[in-house]
Amino acid sequence: MTFPIAIIGTGIAGLSAAGALQAAGLEVQLFDKGRGSGGRMASKRTEVGTLDLGAQYFTCRDRRFAEAVQQWRSHGWVAEWQPSLYDSANGLLRPSQDEQIRWIGTPRMSALTRGLLGDLPVRFSCQITEVFHGTQHWMLQDAGGNAYGPFSQVVVATPPPQAAQLLAAAPKLASSVAGVAMEPNWAVALSFEQALDTPVDGCFIQDSPLEWVSRNRGKPGRASQPDTWVLQASSRWTRQHLDLAKEQVVEQLYGAFAELIGCTVPQPTFTLAHRWLYGRPVGTHGWGALADSSLGLYACGDWCLSGRVEGAWLSGQEAARKLLQHRAN
Ligand code: FAD
Repeated sequence: MTFPIAIIGTGIAGLSAAGALQAAGLEVQLFDKGRGSGGRMASKRTEVGTLDLGAQYFTCRDRRFAEAVQQWRSHGWVAEWQPSLYDSANGLLRPSQDEQIRWIGTPRMSALTRGLLGDLPVRFSCQITEVFHGTQHWMLQDAGGNAYGPFSQVVVATPPPQAAQLLAAAPKLASSVAGVAMEPNWAVALSFEQALDTPVDGCFIQDSPLEWVSRNRGKPGRASQPDTWVLQASSRWTRQHLDLAKEQVVEQLYGAFAELIGCTVPQPTFTLAHRWLYGRPVGTHGWGALADSSLGLYACGDWCLSGRVEGAWLSGQEAARKLLQHRAN
């Protein structure tokens, strides 16, 4: 008798692993504590439209990832974003020389993970708190005390703090994961009744509480929305203001935005603040994916590679490859 493989996390890494395992003919069962897929690529529905508060776009360096992106494009899940990009340093705003190709989910970032999820079996709003070994196979327990299983193998595709806890049955893996530090990021959305009089669609920022701002309606598939901007604070500023009240975060980042954007910025008609406690991994790792194949436990995520969407997807592929290789032996 064969049992399915449990995958904890439906961010891009978990879905990448799920797709590769399903393509190899294996049965998977996904779990996520969120109400939908996407994790740090998720989009938030608001009264001013759907906003990308996490990953803003992704770039493509690896050949395999580039092939996958072309397939996603043919499904209409992603589109190339050709923003009017600027750099801001020492208070000076200049057109950016950066000519990288940038991709985004369309009409919202989460469209990509929705597409990848397809009709894979998934349980949302289900926070897994424990991965434990039953008589012969793996079992999961959620925060409500419900048990799921049996599973032949488990792929943990969550950020490191959660992964370290879920991998307690494999202490070596757990201690590697526990050593990965994550940086927090505040993200703020501001909406304006009148479109701001600026050519900027996106801007990389230095010497400011902000490190990035982007205009939502400048992205493919979002043209009809009001003039809403997403502002991302630097990790440094976020660390220093981790517990600041949301209204004050909005106020301070609004001030920094008004200072740099080079046009009149009226009071916003809508504001929102979101804190990513585990936003981006500090530094890069060359792990690909972590595995204790003899136990049947695997871990993947952006933190195993580059800390970007591409790294997360490649890490999911690598977890699946290691799992399939072990099953073949
Ligand atoms: P995640 O997306 O974090 O997915 C993990 C999933 O696990 C989540 O859905 C979570 O709900 C679930 N989960 C966690 N714990 C549990 C549990 N106990 N039980 C069940 N489910 C659980 N990358 C780029 O390439 N370009 C960018 O412009 C960019 N900008 C960014 C801006 C911000 C503010 C942030 C925060 C990140 C940004 N990134 C960017 C990074 C990018 O978002 C991540 O690298 C990528 O989305 C990580 O994917 P992942 O699958 O590894 O993890």
